[in-house]
Amino acid sequence: MIDPVALLQQMIRYDTTNPPGNEHDAVRHIESILKEAGIETQLFALDSARPNLIGRLPGTGTAPPLLMHAHIDVVPTAHQPWTHDPFGGEIIDGYIWGRGALDMKGGAVMMVDAMVKLAASGEKPAGDIILAIVADEEDGGNLGARFLVEQHPEVFAGVRYAIGEFGAFPITLAGVRFYPIQIAERVSVKFDLTMRGEGGHGSLPVHGEAMARLGRTLRRLDRKRLPVHIVDANRMMLEAMIEHTGGAPQRALRSLLSERTAAATLAALRSQLGVLEPVMRNTVSPTIVQGGTKDNVIPSEVRLQLDGRMLPGLTAESFAQEVQHLVGRHVEVSHTTESISALREPDMGLFDLLAAIVKERDPQGVPVPFLLPAVTDGRWFNQLGIQHYGFLPMSLPDDFAFQKTVHAANERIPVTALHHGCESILDLLRRYRG
Ligand SMILES: [Zn+2]
Repeated sequence: MIDPVALLQQMIRYDTTNPPGNEHDAVRHIESILKEAGIETQLFALDSARPNLIGRLPGTGTAPPLLMHAHIDVVPTAHQPWTHDPFGGEIIDGYIWGRGALDMKGGAVMMVDAMVKLAASGEKPAGDIILAIVADEEDGGNLGARFLVEQHPEVFAGVRYAIGEFGAFPITLAGVRFYPIQIAERVSVKFDLTMRGEGGHGSLPVHGEAMARLGRTLRRLDRKRLPVHIVDANRMMLEAMIEHTGGAPQRALRSLLSERTAAATLAALRSQLGVLEPVMRNTVSPTIVQGGTKDNVIPSEVRLQLDGRMLPGLTAESFAQEVQHLVGRHVEVSHTTESISALREPDMGLFDLLAAIVKERDPQGVPVPFLLPAVTDGRWFNQLGIQHYGFLPMSLPDDFAFQKTVHAANERIPVTALHHGCESILDLLRRYRG
């Protein structure tokens, strides 16, 4: 029988750092486990070193197929102060250590484990269970989820709901243990800012030109915030939180529901509500500065790139206008975005079952719909009309800062959390009725 702990240790030991990815061996390993369990598999690859695996367990056909998707690539570990080998997969003090333990080889293992155990039990699920183990999520998904959705959409025919990263682990806020379950995510928009001015010889200084404009722009970006927007996903999230809090925290959350009062509340309560900041507004982070080619030549043009993230339901054009307004008219602003069609409203049809599974394991916990500030492969499956839920249930100790170890040093998962996830997902597969 499959041992999820040993399987996660093995998965971590395959170095699937993306770039370059090299997901092949890890994917073939999972393929062999599925085959051994009698589960039908198919491989789809744009690059043979980076295949995607589909496993399918037939259901009785009384419900549409249910999709589980997990990426098997990971982000780099270079220049990070790791205490233990990031590709060692060691078990230390009850944690499995290594890159991908949380994001998201741990999640992939939960899905594989649940599917294999369901197959072994002989029980037939209501709908086919489709497992997609994909490459390339951490570098845009072009060889992974995007490729599958665009070139092999027939694989996902009839699917209405999917689970994947992230959600269903505890975050304590205002004394309440919330379990956010992702129902929507922000959209990535890249900005290119150009600042121009008089150039010349380094021995003859200029003032107020391109470099000074860069300084002023960075200062504005640091000090100011873009406007707050209430969209479906953050409204549903706030309403659910308001229902389960009281007193001052409840009043604060309620004031976030109004675009008129939200910005002031966020500014006043940054230490408590900072975690909500990126789900209440579009944001931009300056990431790359380019300017100057020689130490004695004053550049007449300096460029600044911003990593922009937009709330679902807004347009990139309106986002660009917000950025232009913030940086001022002396800066030229251009933007590019993934050609993804408009996001639909969240389809909450599976939410109650997911919430029930969480709640049965923690009666004091409060599952809430969640708008993820980042992007996941969920956006690609959205293109097929599939509602993605972030659902990788984990029990975590109160002092474990999930957000601080994902993509960072010392990524690790409690052994108990991995088992919790395996059991919760198996429960979902058994109870899913469409
Ligand atoms: Zn991930």
